[in-house]
Amino acid sequence: MSQRRSHVILLPQGAGWEWYDALRDYVLRFRPTVTHSADDAVSFRGDAHTVTVVNPASWNKPGAARRPDQEDDILAWLSNAQQVGGARFEVDVIRATEPDALRVALARRVLESDRYGARQPADASRPPAPLPAAAPSQPVPAAPPAAAPPMAVPGVQPGKLALVWPTDFRVYTQKFGQRPEFYGKFGLPGHEGVDIRAPNGANVYACADGVVVLAGWRRAGHPYGYSVRIRHQRSDGEYETVYAHLQEGSATVKEGDLVKAGQLIALADNTGNSSAAHLHLSLKKIGAKNGGYGEIIDPEPFFVDGP
Ligand SMILES: [Zn+2]
Repeated sequence: MSQRRSHVILLPQGAGWEWYDALRDYVLRFRPTVTHSADDAVSFRGDAHTVTVVNPASWNKPGAARRPDQEDDILAWLSNAQQVGGARFEVDVIRATEPDALRVALARRVLESDRYGARQPADASRPPAPLPAAAPSQPVPAAPPAAAPPMAVPGVQPGKLALVWPTDFRVYTQKFGQRPEFYGKFGLPGHEGVDIRAPNGANVYACADGVVVLAGWRRAGHPYGYSVRIRHQRSDGEYETVYAHLQEGSATVKEGDLVKAGQLIALADNTGNSSAAHLHLSLKKIGAKNGGYGEIIDPEPFFVDGP
């Protein structure tokens, strides 16, 4: 197979982790790239490229009048990229307005090995009419998954979770489960994470690729202070890393962003229930039952480059 085929799923504007979660089985099966950047979606230059647009209505400009000949803004924009910009790609539309609807539409495609929905009935998940395609573009047949090129899949990855060290200071200042007498006051068997050296203003990096689900205060007065939470989909389950006591307003990421391991996400500080600047890191495995810690587990065994 010499043809270099590529496939990008363009998620709705502002898509949060629920949308990524709805993609999991489909991504594991067909290995498309996932983005919520329209520019990224059309920037591929393979011999054959398909953009799957999810919930195109999410891209409508607020208050914009919609002409009968103009579909949603994003579809018009893609059509323009084809005709004026000369970009060569096929457009595939899934009109799911909720993550659950996307999950259902994709489950059908997975079940029928129908990557691009070519064999799906003309229902709400299909466009009412094909887009005008003036520029020559090659048809993309539904292919067996083995023909798909290995492409990066941000946010959803096979394999086990691996964590990289989140600060420039390779020192634990308190490990998991320590000081049970202190944490008992909060109903915990011990320290529910690890504390890592991080002076005021020190860089804090994402421990693994994932999707940002919180950047800020979870609620006023929360003991974790200004914090970032990142969800990590792996083939053995879903995880969340929590970076606590960060500097107010220092996040360089926002909810819905895809981040890479080692990417700067915020600066360290002392916000929330903390007596001195440091980074508190908690790791959750969603659905885990770790005694009095609930879903929280010890992150130390997951580090691939600890102190
Ligand atoms: Zn701590």
